[in-house]
Amino acid sequence: MEITGGCVCGGTRYVLKSRPIALIDCHCIDCRRSAGAPYVQWGSVPRADLVITKGEPRKISYANRIRCFAACCGTHLFFEDSEDSEMIDVTIASLDDPAAFAPQKAIWLEDKLPWVVIDESIPSFQTVPKKKS
Ligand SMILES: [Zn+2]
Ligand SMILES: [Zn+2]
Repeated sequence: MEITGGCVCGGTRYVLKSRPIALIDCHCIDCRRSAGAPYVQWGSVPRADLVITKGEPRKISYANRIRCFAACCGTHLFFEDSEDSEMIDVTIASLDDPAAFAPQKAIWLEDKLPWVVIDESIPSFQTVPKKKS
């Protein structure tokens, strides 16, 4: 299976070899500012399943995380916990066809803007869901 996506100008393109999982809306202030949007929807794929097919994303380290932007036009594309994290997050809105990937939960509601309306049919969390150990 191949799912394609890329930046607004077409200079950076990527392919996902598996369907993104763990679909979340993140309302944290860092996502908000980095995308210039009220919140950002993310999905995760194993690092090996993300292949850049055109262009070279620019990595920016901030708050001990790595955010990747299209070097050509600045579209926010990816998020990594670290250089060697097993999973990499993809901005669902940069997919060519994001419609199939509805969010499953909303996180960081403590940073949510007051005029953003939360979908009450999905679970939401003030910060992040507690990790099962
Ligand atoms: Zn671009
Ligand atoms: Zn966030």
